[in-house]
Amino acid sequence: MKTIDLCNSTIAFSLPQTLEFENNVLIITDSCVAPLYLSLIQKRIKAPKIFSYIIPSGEQEKNFNTIEKILLFALEQKLDRKSIMIALGGGVISDIVGLASGLFMRGIDFYSIPTTLLAQVDASVGGKCGINTSFGKNLIGLFHQPKKVFIDSSFLQTLPPREFNSAMAEVIKMATCLDANLFDSLFEKQHALENLEKVIYTCVKLKAKIVAQDEKEQDLRAVLNYGHTFGHIIEKNGNFHTFLHGEAVSLGMIIANTLAEKLLNFQESKEVKALLELYSLPTQYQIADSQSFYDDLFLDKKTQNQQIKLVLPKKIGDFAFVYPTKKEILDLIMEYSQ
Ligand code: NAD
Repeated sequence: MKTIDLCNSTIAFSLPQTLEFENNVLIITDSCVAPLYLSLIQKRIKAPKIFSYIIPSGEQEKNFNTIEKILLFALEQKLDRKSIMIALGGGVISDIVGLASGLFMRGIDFYSIPTTLLAQVDASVGGKCGINTSFGKNLIGLFHQPKKVFIDSSFLQTLPPREFNSAMAEVIKMATCLDANLFDSLFEKQHALENLEKVIYTCVKLKAKIVAQDEKEQDLRAVLNYGHTFGHIIEKNGNFHTFLHGEAVSLGMIIANTLAEKLLNFQESKEVKALLELYSLPTQYQIADSQSFYDDLFLDKKTQNQQIKLVLPKKIGDFAFVYPTKKEILDLIMEYSQ
């Protein structure tokens, strides 16, 4: 079995027939994934006791209330420090379970079985987890590495096309900043789709290489946030409803590229836009309230001492961190407000 080791966790590129545990297991999944895969996973697990907890599907569930309910359920079932939580689902589930397991009894092990492309290439790898509040996305969270991640592309057969395309934004994000070969190969859409396992493996390897150098995002890991600083605000402004995460990231990349043209003489915005559109991602956005968009930017986790840190592409496959002035940010917002 192909594997990648990362920060005391192992990422395996298939799902074993049997998963054996010496201690009790709590599988957490959502209402879309449960009817499709919960019984399959339950059958493969051998453990003294197997509990399951199903939350409604959707980004709006990434909140304090869900975490509290999971933790209380775990206490009711008498889970202990040796118990295991398993995340079965997309990035929402892996973010929630990472946080819940990180808090339960000051931290227990969790395993991840990602069932969306986004979770397979990005969310379930690297140990970041968190929830949303009215102040913004993922501002409350932890670094908690999964013990093991099992990536199996056969889960993606049931994924709605819009979800698939949304995840391609994260693939394009990584390709734009880190891998020119991957970027070029994605233009051969048919070939890329037929070789999806290779695309997933390449993305996980790229992400693992970055995370291994900077697990707690002191510096380099922020490259993975390309498009996210603007994307998170776009996602929040649509009440986590108008745009899927990757769609908002796609729009965030478009806005970031406008700044990259000015500050880094980035010449390939058109190619990035074309690639996003090839995977049916949105590329047109108008900022409705420029003042609140500006204010929200200063709540971003990467903002320090009122200075916004952005990752921007210099050329395809290469990037730089920039600290734009307030005027440069204001001009950018005005450009997207008309
Ligand atoms: P999601 O978890 O909401 O899944 C998308 C939808 O697909 C849901 O309705 C889900 O029920 C359904 N679904 C899942 N697997 C399915 C399958 N195999 N077949 C059919 N339907 C399926 O969203 P997502 O796009 O996977 O993840 C988005 C989240 O990931 C966001 O909250 C984002 O902030 C987070 N994220 C985290 C990281 C990180 O490093 N922690 C990185 C990127 C994104």
